Amino acid sequence: MADMREPIESGCPDPWQYMHPLMRKNFGQWKYHDHPRPGVLRHVAHSGDEIWTVKAGTQRILDVFTLRKLCDIGDQYADGYVHFTLRSNIEYMVKDAAKVEPLIRTLEDAGFIVGGTQNSVTMISHTQGWLHCDIPGTDASGVVKSMMDELIDEFRSANMPNRVHITTSCCQINCGGQGDIAINVQHTKPPKINHDLVANVCERPSVVARCPVAAIRPAMVNGKPSLEVDERKCICCGACYPPCPPMQINDAEHSKLAIWVGGNHSNARGKPTFQKLVAAGIPNNPPRWPEATAIVKRILKAYKEGARDWERVNEWIERIGWPRFFEEVELPFTKYHIDTWRGARNSFNASTYIRF
Ligand code: SF4
Ligand code: SF4
Repeated sequence: MADMREPIESGCPDPWQYMHPLMRKNFGQWKYHDHPRPGVLRHVAHSGDEIWTVKAGTQRILDVFTLRKLCDIGDQYADGYVHFTLRSNIEYMVKDAAKVEPLIRTLEDAGFIVGGTQNSVTMISHTQGWLHCDIPGTDASGVVKSMMDELIDEFRSANMPNRVHITTSCCQINCGGQGDIAINVQHTKPPKINHDLVANVCERPSVVARCPVAAIRPAMVNGKPSLEVDERKCICCGACYPPCPPMQINDAEHSKLAIWVGGNHSNARGKPTFQKLVAAGIPNNPPRWPEATAIVKRILKAYKEGARDWERVNEWIERIGWPRFFEEVELPFTKYHIDTWRGARNSFNASTYIRF
């Protein structure tokens, strides 16, 4: 009998080979860690070993020259090991305390900002659908760049009541949610259908199945098989656009931004919380997005001034209450904040039969 072939491993590579040897040696054996200055953590192991982590922000979409520069810095100071975080920061692990300050100076001389640790505003996490995805409604990287330019001092220092995660996404339905503050796309008009293309491009059953509120039906238009949208049902989510690009929903005027607050995945001190909408219909205004940035700055200012030490954004709002939150951040409470959607779990059509 022929030998069975080995399975092809196509997931993430084994991380151990990329981990600094001192981290590997002390895995699971750390005694404590502290925060000597913004951008630097020190971990102390039971064995007596110490390792310093120096964190710097990057622009996420890195050209090969920048990557080489970052790797050269790793060769010089961190035994050739680098680590990229979820939020596109680079971290260097340094086993010699005397190298920490020279490493920081080298990074800053090369134009990178050291920070993003403990109670700082972290790098804004974002997706970049313009490059790799099929449904973006905005340039998330542009929003991040404009906002971080204005929030950079909060990244560089650690003066917030607790850590603040900010996220952005380039469409309304997938990545980018659940930050302390999230900036997400908000489509405000149903898709416009290019009927000539639907017949050639789309698999109509998959588009119909994709709609969360069953607003899409097959239809004959000008003698050709196409689709129609029940605009009274449509919630303008944009989910039909990826399987059917002729259902064009992106619109320079009607695709807006919305800001949500209070999302928290962590269950360290309490249950995870969902984010809630606080500002809708904000102009999606490149290249600097001043309206969205102004609101984020107001929320951060009110949080910084009003929250108690180590209170996260959701805990602060929970304590002061939503009416006071809206007053503090000078945002109007509008009809868009009231959840009138009937697809929530308690009213969700969970039957196996589709009803219209
Ligand atoms: S946010 Fe949406 S468009 Fe952007 S990468 Fe994620 S799924 Fe794609
Ligand atoms: S935008 Fe969303 S709700 Fe509207 S038709 Fe498309 S999938 Fe359905």
